[in-house]
Amino acid sequence: MNDVLNGRFGGRLSAVLYLLCGSLVAVAVPIVPARPGTNEAGLLATAATALASGAVIWKLPWERWSRASSLWIVPPTFTLIAFYNSFSDADGYRYAPFFFVSFAWVGLVHPRGTSAKMLPLAAVAYLVPLAVAGNSNAVAVWSAVYVLPPCVLLGEAIAWVSDRLSSAQHSLRAREASFRQLFLDNPQPMWVFDVHGHHFLEVNEAAVAHYGYSREEFLAMLITDIRPPDDVPAFVDAIAAALALMHTRSSRHLLKDGRTVEVDVTAHRLMFEGRAAMLSALQDVTERNALERELRHRAFHDSLTELANRSLFANRLEHARARQARTDLPVAVIVLDIDAFKTVNDSLGHSIGDSLLIAAGERLREAVRPGDTVARLGGDEFAILIEHAPGIDQLTQHAERLLACLNEPFELAGKTLVITASAGVTLSTPHDGPDDLIRNADMAMYLAKREGKACVRQFRPALHHAALERLELEADLRRALQRGEFIVHYQPMMELTSGRVAGFEALVRWEHPRRGLLGPPEFIGLAEETGIIVELGRWVLTEACAQAQRWQERHGFDGLVSVNLSARQLRDPGLLGDVIATLRNSRLDPHRLTLEITETVLMDDDAAVDRLEELKALGLRLAIDDFGTGYSSLNYLRRLPIDIVKIDKLFVDEVATDRESVGLVSAILGMARALNLETVAEGVENAGQAERLKELGAALVQGFYFAKPMPAGATELFVAAEPKQTTTSVR
Ligand code: C2E
Ligand code: CA
Ligand code: CA
Repeated sequence: MNDVLNGRFGGRLSAVLYLLCGSLVAVAVPIVPARPGTNEAGLLATAATALASGAVIWKLPWERWSRASSLWIVPPTFTLIAFYNSFSDADGYRYAPFFFVSFAWVGLVHPRGTSAKMLPLAAVAYLVPLAVAGNSNAVAVWSAVYVLPPCVLLGEAIAWVSDRLSSAQHSLRAREASFRQLFLDNPQPMWVFDVHGHHFLEVNEAAVAHYGYSREEFLAMLITDIRPPDDVPAFVDAIAAALALMHTRSSRHLLKDGRTVEVDVTAHRLMFEGRAAMLSALQDVTERNALERELRHRAFHDSLTELANRSLFANRLEHARARQARTDLPVAVIVLDIDAFKTVNDSLGHSIGDSLLIAAGERLREAVRPGDTVARLGGDEFAILIEHAPGIDQLTQHAERLLACLNEPFELAGKTLVITASAGVTLSTPHDGPDDLIRNADMAMYLAKREGKACVRQFRPALHHAALERLELEADLRRALQRGEFIVHYQPMMELTSGRVAGFEALVRWEHPRRGLLGPPEFIGLAEETGIIVELGRWVLTEACAQAQRWQERHGFDGLVSVNLSARQLRDPGLLGDVIATLRNSRLDPHRLTLEITETVLMDDDAAVDRLEELKALGLRLAIDDFGTGYSSLNYLRRLPIDIVKIDKLFVDEVATDRESVGLVSAILGMARALNLETVAEGVENAGQAERLKELGAALVQGFYFAKPMPAGATELFVAAEPKQTTTSVR
């Protein structure tokens, strides 16, 4: 601490005291009545010496000298005081105040202990004049004892207090300095700016490095200079209003190179060098925000067309509904689906298909008003949300215009493509959620498809309930395969005489998420109409072949597996290839596979016959299903490459009761024998029927009486329990 202080304070202070005391004496001597024995001339000379010394001491270059150097003033001072005493009759008390002043000076200027060291010198200065003047009376001499120790105490006390004060001040400065260092070296960009003048008051290295301005440039700038001009007014308001202690906000800043960055600013009000200021710590979040935006974008946009995806669409729809709820105005949804898009994909390739979707999306986006949302719901299905909906008729016209704009030729990869699309429109009612609205529009769109495509249909609650359900089902059906909602059940076909399992018929089921387990009559017709049956049938075939192979591998069961084939599948040019691939992949012996076809299918299609020959050539077997319900022409049986005839339940139902049925069944069985065909009697529900069929010589039977269709897992138990060698009679 000593070295930080120079001699200036001590020197100047002593000069002031010399001048003060000198003037005091010079003024007092002529006024105050003198005691006898006083040498007034001597006193005035002392005062003059003090004044002159004061002036000289003031002038000395103390700042260049150390603090301790001013101690040299002490001996001359005591000498001067001694002279003063000699001239004033040496009574001791009179000059006591000069000692107090001197010690106070020592205490103020010099470290603790200095006053104590001065004591001998002070004692000499006190006592010598008394001795010289021969004035050694007890009172005068003893006065030294009253004066000097308190002087030392005073000096030491003052030194102690000033020591304390200056050490406190010192640690305060040290702390300030280290805080400043913390600010300057902080890796986070920081600055302090004047709340009122908006000047930068201090910036740290990190800010200099990040923003590109030098410290000097910063200090010449205003805090508003690093804001994009548009942001300045709001920012200035914010400073004025933000008298809160601590707050973080996001803002945009300009770097010196002109780039704009996004920063999170944490600001703190403080006093800086006597000014109301704000300390800002900055974090550049440009990259983080960009990444966040990108992720959010991906979550809510279709990656192919960059349009909104289903979740964003549903979300916008929900908000629009919430806004409109207050005004009671409906919002509108248009769902739009490209007709025969699959043909484009299949014939021109997926990349042209993708380009078509992108171009179609673009056209739609250009055709709607800026506030409306265009989304791609998936595949070739688009949706448009119109927040301020006109009436349903204007909405329909609007949708027709959209269809017309999609109908304009597309130029893609050097090819001209003309497409049509179908659309469904709907207006919201107060109790429709976003999903209901999309589904309603979806249903209306399917209605448009069914009623000839390339048109718009309105959703009407008045649509017949069954039609509605069908439309809904159709929409669900399209997604069911992707969602894995189909399962296959298997119904055993039994040898009537032995009671053994000859094989199983695969029967598809649909585990509908809302309606539960649905049987084929509820959806097969629809699947055929919509063509979904082709894909569904392929899936069933794959499942059934894999299951049959499992029976063999796990249980050594090498019975038949029968798979139903619809007319539509038979017309599908891909069928043969599918069957070949399935057989190869499942490693199933082709002889174990039977394909069942209804006779109506075969009636009206000559090409189908060729198809059957091709299938047959693979080594599998063919069955005529539901025999007796169609034309039942025996010619067909001759002409077609058939192995099995499945006698319809209709005949079996009456076989136990009705004589005519008995006759028919027996005729069919006879004919089959003659043509060397196997037979399966279907729908056997009771013992009476089974008994009568046995009498008539039916070999294979199928029906609830023996077993109902069951899940794959149950068939394995069934097969495992099957007696392998022994022959048992039918129940
Ligand atoms: P189907 O080929 O004539 O199949 C026999 C149907 O009769 C099955 O109905 C079966 O559960 C039922 N059934 C069997 N025994 C009895 C019985 O004793 N009493 C009664 N009342 N019914 C019995 P399911 O499973 O409902 O299938 C109905 C039709 O759906 C099938 O008739 C078939 O034409 C069609 N189907 C089923 N699965 C498929 C498939 O994967 N593809 C195609 N294209 N059609 C399928
Ligand atoms: Ca069948
Ligand atoms: Ca049948």
